[in-house]
Amino acid sequence: MQPELGNGLSQGQPHDLAENSLFETVSRVEHDLNDLIGALALLGVKRCSQCRQFFRTAEPGALFDYGLLVCYKCIPDWWSSCSRRLGVTDRERIEGKLASWLRRYHHAEVVKETPGKVPDTSNVEFQMIAKCLECSGSGKLMEEERCRFCNGAGTVRIAVPK
Ligand SMILES: [Zn+2]
Ligand SMILES: [Zn+2]
Repeated sequence: MQPELGNGLSQGQPHDLAENSLFETVSRVEHDLNDLIGALALLGVKRCSQCRQFFRTAEPGALFDYGLLVCYKCIPDWWSSCSRRLGVTDRERIEGKLASWLRRYHHAEVVKETPGKVPDTSNVEFQMIAKCLECSGSGKLMEEERCRFCNGAGTVRIAVPK
């Protein structure tokens, strides 16, 4: 790739001029577009980092903010790839934030894991596994008592009903 690119640039023909002005135009359009997106943000309209759609930020629950914005529709795909890529600390931080966002705006419920039982997910729109906040993921409460919030698993299911 590199040598070909070098040859193309060294020709110095009018062809390059056209290419340069095209590049300038594209940069200018890009610049204008960024200004426009900035202006939309001032009006309370922001964009999902995944599907690039715009949403009103006044509508709580439309966009999840973890530094970047993700719309509710994109959450399942985004979370399944994002959670695999992240390190434990980052994953737990975003996971906790996402779990409380889902509970607050999308009626998500905390479901205990029952060992040996396959959960019924027929009425679930989206679910994720999150660290149990009651025992901080240890599965135990004080005095080595098994955590009753997660049945000692240390994790719970956060399920958004259909
Ligand atoms: Zn989206
Ligand atoms: Zn627990």
